[in-house]
Amino acid sequence: MSCRNSFDTAAWTSCDPGTLQELAGRLRTTRHRERVRRTVAPSIILLALMVGTWTASQAMWHFDSHYGGISCLEVQASLNLFESGRLPDALNKKMAAHLRECPRCQSQLRDVSQQPDEVGTAPLFNYSMLASMRSVR
Ligand SMILES: [Zn+2]
Repeated sequence: MSCRNSFDTAAWTSCDPGTLQELAGRLRTTRHRERVRRTVAPSIILLALMVGTWTASQAMWHFDSHYGGISCLEVQASLNLFESGRLPDALNKKMAAHLRECPRCQSQLRDVSQQPDEVGTAPLFNYSMLASMRSVR
């Protein structure tokens, strides 16, 4: 096989059958790979970033849900006071509405209910005490 690179057609020699098809195929493959590298790969990276951002935003929303007009962070900051019945009535209602809807904060409330009071004394009032008083009757 001998293909010389010259514009003098008299000096050209014939190629083996299939040589030009093979060369054209390699060029198509190279062009295709280059097109993929330039367009598809950035698109995949962009899509992955969008999915990652969406997933993170969903996680943040779940982490800080606003059931009952109050956020998880606010609820969890006041769980001890809620548990001991020392919250103002308006906030107490918001907390109760949130806790009915939010499984994450319900779990936190159960944890708080099982902990001893911070100063080592029994709380003035809490719902678990009320429930146990009702069950005694
Ligand atoms: Zn919550």
